[in-house]
Amino acid sequence: MMETESKRRQVIHACECSICEQHPYSRVAKEHRTINRLVAGAHERQRRLLVGFLAHQRGRGGVALLARVTGLSRRTILRGRRELQQARGPANVARIRRQGGGRKRVEKKAQRL
Ligand SMILES: [Zn+2]
Repeated sequence: MMETESKRRQVIHACECSICEQHPYSRVAKEHRTINRLVAGAHERQRRLLVGFLAHQRGRGGVALLARVTGLSRRTILRGRRELQQARGPANVARIRRQGGGRKRVEKKAQRL
């Protein structure tokens, strides 16, 4: 089944949680915007792992919270969390996050030279 989430997002999702609505300049609201910026810049797998990681970090209620913040489905977040556990350990997580961070830009630049 194709989901809209499988495509790279062009638009940064705006969190619709009550904190972002009522206190848009609070620390939490800034954090939610940062999460959505990262989500928007990541490709499918990295995005799943990133949001799965954040949901896992928050423990109880994390999946529901991240679903509300990012607009991704709970199913997608649960899948990311599961994949994260299968990836085994923080070294792999760090590698995945670094890939999402910089390598693409370098490749694009290299092609132009
Ligand atoms: Zn929010």
